Amino acid sequence: MEWHLSKAEDVILSMAGADGGLSSDEARNRLEAQGPNELQDKPRLPAWRMLLRQFSDFMVLVLMAAAVVSFLTGEGADTVIILVIVVLNAILGFFQEYRAERAMEALRRLSVPQAHVLRDGTACVVQAAELVTGDMVLLESGNAVPADLRLVEAHSLRIDESSLTGESATVEKQTAPIDGVDVPVADRVNMAFKGTSVTHGRGSGVVVATGMRTELGGIAGMLQQDGSSTPLQRRMAAFGRQLSYIILLICAILLGTGILRGEEPLRMLLLSISLAVAAIPEALPALITLTLAFGARRMARQQALVRKLPAVETLGAVSHICTDKTGTLTQNRMKVLGTLDGVGADGLRPGLSMLELAMALNHDVHRRPDGSWSGDPTEVALLEHVEARYGAGTVEALLGDFPRSAETPFDSERKCMTTVHDMGERHVVVTKGAAESVADLLSPGGDREAMVGEAHRLSSEGSRVLAFAYRILEDGSLYCGERDMQGRMSLAGLAWMADPPRQDVAEAIALCHGAGIRTIMITGDHPATATAIARQLGILGEDDATLTGRELDRLDEEVFSRCVDSVRVYARVSPAQKLRIVKALQGRGHSVAMTGDGVNDAPSLKAADIGVAMGISGTDVSREAAHMILLDDRFPTIVRAVQEGRRIYDNIRRFVRYILTCNAAEIWTIVLSPFLGLPIPLQPIHLLWINLVTDGLPGLAL
Ligand code: ADP
Ligand code: MG
Repeated sequence: MEWHLSKAEDVILSMAGADGGLSSDEARNRLEAQGPNELQDKPRLPAWRMLLRQFSDFMVLVLMAAAVVSFLTGEGADTVIILVIVVLNAILGFFQEYRAERAMEALRRLSVPQAHVLRDGTACVVQAAELVTGDMVLLESGNAVPADLRLVEAHSLRIDESSLTGESATVEKQTAPIDGVDVPVADRVNMAFKGTSVTHGRGSGVVVATGMRTELGGIAGMLQQDGSSTPLQRRMAAFGRQLSYIILLICAILLGTGILRGEEPLRMLLLSISLAVAAIPEALPALITLTLAFGARRMARQQALVRKLPAVETLGAVSHICTDKTGTLTQNRMKVLGTLDGVGADGLRPGLSMLELAMALNHDVHRRPDGSWSGDPTEVALLEHVEARYGAGTVEALLGDFPRSAETPFDSERKCMTTVHDMGERHVVVTKGAAESVADLLSPGGDREAMVGEAHRLSSEGSRVLAFAYRILEDGSLYCGERDMQGRMSLAGLAWMADPPRQDVAEAIALCHGAGIRTIMITGDHPATATAIARQLGILGEDDATLTGRELDRLDEEVFSRCVDSVRVYARVSPAQKLRIVKALQGRGHSVAMTGDGVNDAPSLKAADIGVAMGISGTDVSREAAHMILLDDRFPTIVRAVQEGRRIYDNIRRFVRYILTCNAAEIWTIVLSPFLGLPIPLQPIHLLWINLVTDGLPGLAL
């Protein structure tokens, strides 16, 4: 259907029937009729085929050949025993594989994507799979688009459609109808498509297609399956193959010498085959998958959700953890400690300072039905400060009197955010952000330096400082973006808040230190704030350095690579610089875990050996890019996951050694005895039995 041709209102009318989304009853009915909003996966291998596959293994086939041979030579008892062993072996193999598969399945189910929709007229969160046509979906920066939408609202909305169109530049979206029947998908700028992600701004749209009926679903072959084998598994498979060749060679020699010594050829053949079967560690790859999957499950119980199995083993090797400050190391439950008013409200609102007005207007926070705020904790703290002074409901009242007409959303690159509000004919532009960013917007004069100096002083006490600026636009003049405000705004004031470190973080950092893991703080906050918190937490020792984003920009790769080992705190960095830091650390041979929550963090999360996203405060985009998700957003969880990773890695190594030792013992027992003039010590069936008991059962137990 060519939804981009129609007006948004018409699409709503034909899909939903009314504004305000669907009722939950209607949604349930439609879900039944339309099926879940999911792309169809490769069908799962049924259990019986998995069982059957155990018999197609090369070694098992050899063993069955051996059974036939012994049957032909009249060794009826041997035949039966070999067959029993083949079956037992297959059953063990089947259980190992089946459990691994089920553990992986459970992990996948834990990370279901969600969507914000209007149901029964209120905003709520549902699983993306439950979306139906007609649902009104709310989008904001960082969201993955959950279905194909005809956009109804778009505010500076930009979407990354590279997963669909291959085009790497983001697309600016709008809502007006587009003429032309055969407009390519990339040019349908009033639509948002499943599988793409919002990088800027906010908007909403009505669902016009779900599941396999979306553009994404229409592209066959897009359903890429993760290549799910891990580096360790691949290494082990290669190792197993080499080992098999060596063992086959040894068996051939055994057969040759046996026949030369005049042993009965058929008996020798049977013995060689049994030895090969016993000594080749065919269960190893399945065992490793199983170990990793169980490890991942245990980590999930400890609030660390591993999205990609290889991450479990990589975690064990992590030597550097680069972590955000706000929220991960600190409590993120902020409280305004003090404010410094620049000016009165210019008569905009008697009794209220311009600073307080700016706090009340400039934010993206929403009130929950129970009266509490949901949104960025920094902004919540500011609103609570205003309401503590002027009473509950002040914020809504002010927003009603000064309706928002435009905005430039917060972005961790610029480190500020601007909103524009109507006042009759005039408009007021309000900006809040990092002191240096806001200073650039202020008109030149005394205020500027004094404000930056004051912000610095407050930051070195560990406070998080925000600066506010404003400008009144007289009638007729329009807001043309934040950049246009440069050098034209006036200072409204400063606000600073406490964001104390979390209780158990210092302990976790000490634990890392003891285990040879370095913790590095990377934050967008002021260097003085960052340094103060880092000292409290023991990240920053006497000789360690703090580097700011600006200083980092001045260093070339070579110089940076030389000093990267001594830097423990990076402040005022942008997401792009995080990528540089990861690369520099990796260049020094370190294995890096990196946390991130924003859209722009995705590249550094992907580049890190372990990208860690936040389950509570993170964006969908960062979660998609990450290897691991912290369900509780807390630093100690990373440390626990690394511990668990090390344990698993050690266990695998130990188990491999154990198997190799056992198998080597079997080989030497058999192969050496003829050379020592001893009779053959074990019959073929003895060997197979020993193998089953020493490899298969401990494997399952592990
Ligand atoms: P971090 O999460 O490491 O503290 P951020 O990128 O979130 O860093 O913030 C960087 C800086 O941007 C903060 O120090 C603050 O000055 C400013 N800032 C943070 N949140 C907001 C916001 N909602 N609006 C305006 N400015 C903000
Ligand atoms: Mg932040």
